[in-house]
Amino acid sequence: MSLPACLKCNSEFVYQDQRLLICPECAFEWDPEEHAAENAPLTEKDANGNTLQEGDKVTLAKDLKVKGSSQVLKVGTKALVRRIVEGKDHQLDCRIDGAGEMMVTAKFVKRA
Ligand SMILES: [Zn+2]
Repeated sequence: MSLPACLKCNSEFVYQDQRLLICPECAFEWDPEEHAAENAPLTEKDANGNTLQEGDKVTLAKDLKVKGSSQVLKVGTKALVRRIVEGKDHQLDCRIDGAGEMMVTAKFVKRA
């Protein structure tokens, strides 16, 4: 099992002491399990309540107006979830077929 580099100074000489990882160079200590939980990728629920993750292919569950233009994205348009961000809406940073990159609300898409 190989240990990760120090989160602070990137030292490769990190060692493990029970649950903690310790860096001998800058004396930084951390709990790798806690760190993993904090950095777990965000997920969102789609129109059907399915869990969406980054990299999922989706289709639009309804017609969506493109903000600031007269363009309408039709229901069924394909998109790729590039990134998920925190928020009440517009959580999905998507690449949409024919429309480019756009923030879309999770409940307006379906996992493909
Ligand atoms: Zn360090």
